[in-house]
Amino acid sequence: MAQNELVFAALGGIGEIGMNLAVYGFGEARRRQWIIVDCGVSFASEEHLPGVDLILPDIAFLIEERKNILGLVLTHGHEDHMGALIDLWPRLKVPLYATPFTASLFEARRASEPGAPQIPVKIVPMGGHLELGPFAVDFINVAHSIPESNALAIRTPAGTLLHTGDWKIDPTPTIGAPTDAARLKALGDQGVLALIGDSTNAVREGRSPSEAEVARTLTELIREAPRRVAVTTFASHVGRLRAVAEAARAAEREVVLVGRAMERVVQVARETGYLDGVQEFRSAEAYGYLPPDKVVALCTGSQGEPRAALARIAQDEHPDIALSRGDRVIFSSRPIPGNEKAIARVVNGLVEQGVEVITDRTHLVHVSGHPRRDELRDMIGWVRPQILIPAHGEALHLAEHAALARAAGVPKVLVCRNGDLVRLAPDGPQIADEVPSGRLYKDGSLLINAEAKTVVARRRLSFGGMVSVALALNDKGQLMADPEVELIGLPEADVDGVSMLSIARETVEQAFESLPKPRRRDPQSVAEAVRRAVRGRIAERWNKKPVCHVHVLVV
Ligand SMILES: [Zn+2]
Ligand SMILES: [Zn+2]
Repeated sequence: MAQNELVFAALGGIGEIGMNLAVYGFGEARRRQWIIVDCGVSFASEEHLPGVDLILPDIAFLIEERKNILGLVLTHGHEDHMGALIDLWPRLKVPLYATPFTASLFEARRASEPGAPQIPVKIVPMGGHLELGPFAVDFINVAHSIPESNALAIRTPAGTLLHTGDWKIDPTPTIGAPTDAARLKALGDQGVLALIGDSTNAVREGRSPSEAEVARTLTELIREAPRRVAVTTFASHVGRLRAVAEAARAAEREVVLVGRAMERVVQVARETGYLDGVQEFRSAEAYGYLPPDKVVALCTGSQGEPRAALARIAQDEHPDIALSRGDRVIFSSRPIPGNEKAIARVVNGLVEQGVEVITDRTHLVHVSGHPRRDELRDMIGWVRPQILIPAHGEALHLAEHAALARAAGVPKVLVCRNGDLVRLAPDGPQIADEVPSGRLYKDGSLLINAEAKTVVARRRLSFGGMVSVALALNDKGQLMADPEVELIGLPEADVDGVSMLSIARETVEQAFESLPKPRRRDPQSVAEAVRRAVRGRIAERWNKKPVCHVHVLVV
């Protein structure tokens, strides 16, 4: 007899940091209803995926199940949780739910994208509640590095789940309320079947320091600064923006906002009340008129993004903002893995101008928004789940979170992968099936499947360049003109100074002439013989193989 099952699957975010997308299903295997939690992106690094900006989860499974999806709930407004919506929502068109700040930030992001479709968001108040078929969802406030991060308590007829989202324990955040421990404990008292939780910092001992401590450090660093100060941080970290603004006011300095992403977030934060009581910020044009000891520039570009404000300032190419010897730049941030080189470029550019650069290497100017090990233990103690599934982490983070949960007495711990369909009840957890999952690349304005050969071919071209050959033959297999040979991205000459183009030309001719006459009438074997010869010969001279395209035209 078919029975109602409660299942979970991640289409992204497990085994990686980024691209978070979880689904929960309830019902008989063939007639399940689903809710989706989050729909985020990962950021691509240039070297691995040339020309690709973003990585999105492949939602073929959700498109298939679209009629049975009751809604998509956002835990918070970070790009790794909502960044894929503008591209993917039109393929789903399911009801979308978010708290006020997240909804406003999403709308501001959407409006900034040319040609983006209208996407309606239903607003759920902080601490609010949603009924979606068999799922009753409670939003529970948690502290994080953006306003309004929510853990979701999901009640179903088969048991209650806690999807933590991104969280930390911060008794003194600079905005919003601390993590709602009382509600989490109450949930634990009622009984929690499974906790699906943030593993980002599961390798870090202790507790993550509070935002209030960072605010104190910033206040001191800004007060003592002899001249201009620029601070860069994640644009969406409104609590940090607030801390900088208050530090500036204490030092009798004005805050100048530099960078569009920062302006966008500040506008949303003003509308939703997260900057109440904070002085108005000045626009970048005002910077030049303010005395050096009366200004703090709040800039985008903490990840070394080449088009962001700070990179342009470091290259002395910003239209409004310039720094010079004795000025101070504070990186109130931490490198996202993969961005270290780009950040180093910006830091070096600043140091070369005589600017003092302060990072979290020497001062407490940044803390993570994710729980360290003692915080994970607290959460487990409050919620006391029967099952724990580590999420939001790479393999190591998941394994550490799993080991910690076992040691903390969680009866059943399961590490799964993207695409695993996990049965949570009855008799869970059990990897019961697999659902289609994968990645999409945002390539220009198009979405392409990561399995497609496009990006592999592009990487190959970027490594070894290309030789393009055109041969015109008549139907007797005779060359009608000199072969056309073109090199793209190859060195000009070999170690003896012989031109690579002449080597390629000669090889083409030799390869053609060494073919027996009957084979010269077959365009395909001509092309293949020439291709092999050219690649082989150039590899001898260069120790690398280019891509080689041979076009044989029979005229
Ligand atoms: Zn987050
Ligand atoms: Zn996240």
